[in-house]
Amino acid sequence: MPDQAVPASPAAPAADVDSAAHWRTLRQHRLALQECEACERRRFPPTPRCPFCADPRSRWETVAGTGTVYSAVTVHRTLDAAFDGETPYTVVTVDLDGGGRMLGRAADGRLDIGDRVTPSYLDHDGWTELRFGLARPSAHGRTAPR
Ligand SMILES: [Zn+2]
Repeated sequence: MPDQAVPASPAAPAADVDSAAHWRTLRQHRLALQECEACERRRFPPTPRCPFCADPRSRWETVAGTGTVYSAVTVHRTLDAAFDGETPYTVVTVDLDGGGRMLGRAADGRLDIGDRVTPSYLDHDGWTELRFGLARPSAHGRTAPR
C-alpha cells in the first residue's frame, strides 16, 4: 500500500448556488454578505430566503469586514488533514460593522471576545480563505491592520 501523502493545500469548499457569490468575492479579496431587500438585514451563511422575514429577495453587499469578535473557539482536532499541522488555532465569529455576523480563522495567534478585527485573505489552490486579524487603533482613532 503506498504511503498517503498529506495534502499540500486544504480541499476547496464545495460551492452551491447560494454560496457561489461568497466564494467568488473572497477570491477577489473582498467580503460580501447577502442583504435582504425587504428587511435589509445581512446574513451568513448564504440562504435562498431571509432567516428573519422569509423574503426571497436579496442582494450582495460588499462590506469592509471590520468588526468585533463575538465568540472564539480553539481547534485542537481538524476535520481536514491539511490543517493537522496547524493546531491549535482559533476560529472566531465577528459582529461586522454595519451589521451581519461572519466567521473565520484568526490570522495570527489568538483572538478573544471583544477584540476589534480586520479581514485578510489567504489564497489556497483554487479557493480563498477569510481570516481575521487584530486591528489596532490608528493615530486618528480608527482601526487599521497590524
Ligand atoms: Zn428579511
